[in-house]
This record gives sequence, structure tokens and C-alpha cells, in this order.
Amino acid sequence: MIEDIEQVLYTEQQIAERVSVLGKRIHTDYLGKKLLLIGTLKGAFLFMADLARAINLPMEIDFISASSYGNGTTSQGLIHIRKDLDHSPKGYHALIVEDIVDSGRTLSYLTENLRSQHVASVEVCTFLDKPSGRAVSFEPKYAGFTIPGGFVVGYGMDYAEKYRNLPFVGLLKRKIYEK
Ligand code: 5GP
Repeated sequence: MIEDIEQVLYTEQQIAERVSVLGKRIHTDYLGKKLLLIGTLKGAFLFMADLARAINLPMEIDFISASSYGNGTTSQGLIHIRKDLDHSPKGYHALIVEDIVDSGRTLSYLTENLRSQHVASVEVCTFLDKPSGRAVSFEPKYAGFTIPGGFVVGYGMDYAEKYRNLPFVGLLKRKIYEK
């Protein structure tokens, strides 16, 4: 797997330090609130596991799976819910935990969808933000790191279902997805 990586962007240690900072901010902001952490499958599974343990508050956890990508590296625009929440989020302060915001379409759709289910509030915590890819205006409240562009893998994120278990985040070599 490692031979397919152009450059390591964030090491395991840098990720752990950043997640800890995010956890503390979220702890302060959600103190005393009925918190529902919503992880987006599958890309956010590792970030979700680490972030949930870095927020020292009572919370409930659910997962949702939405897709705008097939096996490629460019957004297709159409959002499709593959797996919905197990329980109604009504009345909860929902915090969506996402791996990466690119075009912004997935998160604009998911936040609107949750608002229509009468949540007390909805915010987004994304591990990575790629503002250069935006097709719709969307600003996550919390972001781990902002990256310029390129296609990244690791720490939960895949290309054609590979590389999710890399403990670091790396830039995938272009020749892998352009072949
Ligand atoms: P958006 O709707 O913001 O365009 O897409 C967000 C989703 O696209 C993310 O949850 C992720 O699955 C995928 N995505 C966007 N950029 C990247 C990237 O650089 N690497 C990987 N692995 N997935 C990406």
C-alpha cells in the first residue's frame, strides 16, 4: 500500500494531537447539551472512534451512510442515502462527524436533512477540509486540517475500498487513479 502514496500529509501522532484539540473544543461547546454524534460511513469510522473518546461528555452515537462518489475520485453531485440513522435525531444537538468535505454537497444535504427532522442543532466536524473542491457553499464548524487539493487516503479514507487502514493520511499517487 505504502508504495502507492506520494507523500504523507499527517502522521499518526499529528492526527492524535489534532483530534485531542477538537475533542476539547467540542467538550466546551456541548457541555450540558443532549449530544448525538453521527458518523458518516465508511470514511469517518476511525476519526469517529478517536473523536468520540476525545470528547469527555455523555453522548449517543449513530451512523449514516451517504454517497456522492462511485469508485472514482470526482464528485458526481447526486447524494444517495445507503444507510439511515437507527433512531430519530429529534431534539438532539446533532454533530455530524465526517472524513472530508470536498464539493460540500454531501454535508449540505445531510445538514438540511437533519434540520427537517427537528434537531435542536446541527453542526459538522470534519477531519479534513478541501475548500478548493467546493461546488456549493458550505462551512464546517470544526475541521481537523485544511488541505489544498489532490486525492487523499488513509485514516479511514479509501480509493476503491483500499487504504482505509493506513494509520496516517497520504496523498495518493496520480497514476493509481488515472490509470
Ligand atoms: P463532497 O460531497 O463534499 O464532495 O464529498 C465528500 C465525500 O467525498 C467524502 O465523505 C469522501 O468520501 C469523498 N472524498 C472527497 N475527497 C476525497 C479524497 O481526497 N479522498 C477520499 N478518499 N475521499 C474523498
